Amino acid sequence: MIEEIAATFEHLAAGVVVKLTEPALAIIARQALDSKRDETGGILIGRYQDDGYTALVTSATARPNDSISGRTWFQRGVRGLKELLRDRWRRGEYYLGEWHSHPDGSPEPSGNDFREMRSISIDSSYRCNRPLLIIAGTSAGSIELSVSVIDSGRLVRLQRSKTTSTAAAT
Ligand SMILES: [Zn+2]
Repeated sequence: MIEEIAATFEHLAAGVVVKLTEPALAIIARQALDSKRDETGGILIGRYQDDGYTALVTSATARPNDSISGRTWFQRGVRGLKELLRDRWRRGEYYLGEWHSHPDGSPEPSGNDFREMRSISIDSSYRCNRPLLIIAGTSAGSIELSVSVIDSGRLVRLQRSKTTSTAAAT
């Protein structure tokens, strides 16, 4: 199975590479740009490749409809996610982390973003000790992404990879 990769982010010292597929990026970009006033977000789904450190984000969900949000905050809801994850699990895919938007803002993770991700990393119900965080900062119809991972209680910010590979055989 070949999946189109829209963007690759990496932090080689921390041993993590994140490949974002076209469908995942499309959902994040559309949702973030459509929600001009309030933050929006969802979860990231995918799998780790055989090397053990490359996370392939195959999809991002739209905003669960029990989410609540304001201009500078977002509390993701849960409606529909359990069923979705159960379904994806049969294909070998699982929860990888969270994404949310910063309308008219930088994609820099806030202190609150870090604390929320750290609590997910130690919450056994998520079974995800290295959750990813993607933030989409928007301004005037354009979008800027940050990609981070919580690694041993620290927030590690990944850099956009210069390599030009556009597809990953999986
Ligand atoms: Zn945030």
